[in-house]
Amino acid sequence: MFKEIRVRFAPSPTGVLHIGGARTALYNWLFARHHGGKFILRMEDTDRNRSTEEAIGAIVSSLKWLGLDWDEGPEVGGAYGPYRQTERLSFYKEALKKLLEAKMAYRCYCSPEELEERRKAALRDGRSPGYDGRCKKFTEKEQKDYEKEGRKYAIRFACPKEGETVVSDIIRGDVVFQNSVLEDFILTRANGLPTYNFAAVVDDATMKITHIIRGIDHLSNTPKQILLYEALSLPLPVFAHLPMILGSDGKPLSKRHGATSVEEYKKNGYLSEAILNYLALLGWSYDEKTTMFSIEDLIEKFSLEKVSKNSAIFDNAKLQWMNGCYIRKLSVDKLTDLLIPIWVDAGFFAKSSDFGIERLKMIATLVQERIKCLTEVLELTDFFFKEEIEVAPKAADKVLKNPEALKVLEIAYEKLKTLGKFDVESVEAALRSIPAGLDIKPKFVFQPIRVAVTGKTVSPPLFETIEVLGKERTLTRLTAAIGIVK
Ligand code: GLU
Repeated sequence: MFKEIRVRFAPSPTGVLHIGGARTALYNWLFARHHGGKFILRMEDTDRNRSTEEAIGAIVSSLKWLGLDWDEGPEVGGAYGPYRQTERLSFYKEALKKLLEAKMAYRCYCSPEELEERRKAALRDGRSPGYDGRCKKFTEKEQKDYEKEGRKYAIRFACPKEGETVVSDIIRGDVVFQNSVLEDFILTRANGLPTYNFAAVVDDATMKITHIIRGIDHLSNTPKQILLYEALSLPLPVFAHLPMILGSDGKPLSKRHGATSVEEYKKNGYLSEAILNYLALLGWSYDEKTTMFSIEDLIEKFSLEKVSKNSAIFDNAKLQWMNGCYIRKLSVDKLTDLLIPIWVDAGFFAKSSDFGIERLKMIATLVQERIKCLTEVLELTDFFFKEEIEVAPKAADKVLKNPEALKVLEIAYEKLKTLGKFDVESVEAALRSIPAGLDIKPKFVFQPIRVAVTGKTVSPPLFETIEVLGKERTLTRLTAAIGIVK
């Protein structure tokens, strides 16, 4: 039916990229990649007060980090540019001219204050608060008089008041809107800039967008947009409105639910593959049971028909679990590469050669099974990088104050001191031989040693940890712990 499928992600650059926006971008991207079509990025920056260059940069960098590359848009250009609405004003002017000539649009001289006052009064009296269409009836003479007064004007669309407009939605079927409930909405504001509904239609049409995939929060805009397509004799695209994303309490996902931006997830140690996999499932599923999808799987399997009508619940614990799965799939080299900047940012070392890349890889291997987010590595490994450690008071009380602890630590010190080769096998053999002369369970042997060398009751596997720490550091820490016990 379509020569080429063309979809777009059209964020308003007023802040960072949130989970909801990222899911919209992902579904558009998957749809384009599945069909061998084009994915277009367009910045809807006509709200001059709220749009910033910084936000454009942040959105672009989050999309890049996720790997959602665009075929046309900022930085890459394309045949239907520019891809920023404030650079496309001539397109809107042209469309507006057509609508004015056809008397499908008119000048409105009402000031924002007047509109607000009337809106309040209408609500008070139980009338519909929408615009009452008074400026539509003005003669040319009346318009001139207003302009002489210095009044600025917006331009409104003359919405048909009868009949209905049907949104044929791939996900929801036909959604019918009575035209009588649609007000004469603004096309361009008094400052000459277009509103979202107008600019989006002109852009989607001139950019030859075939499918509009966006959040359900835009469904109420769609009948207005369809009427504009019709007024401008433009072919209609296909619509698909994605379900809402709710927090675990059933309320729309927001800051209250914790991290909501892609940037924050990145900072908190999430992998882009895990985020994409998780976002894909926020409203779409392939079958009842499959949860893990590589990006290639998603491209192959994604379809709009399998997007749900029902709201999706954002479950942080599930995302964390999934992130852990993706961490475990990484090669040690890749994991180490990802952990190094986290260690560096925490000030553990300045560059990897200061500590030794091989030892860093050993640490990465030790934590790989244990972390769900990359940043969890900090708490789990800090003792490797410190000259001196502090034994957590609770751990000291619970473990080191045991009557056997002193004996164990002293024997461990002697055994490890005499070791020639200090690798995991010899360390293990030495420590496992401790209980032989004592009447205690292995658990009571290894815990004091763990606390002595790591400062914690929970650590990566003990023998490997001691190997990475090395002989000198291990012995120093055992001595310090013996000091505490005595
Ligand atoms: N700029 C709109 C937004 O960020 C785009 C909506 C649409 O995709 O049409 O919500």
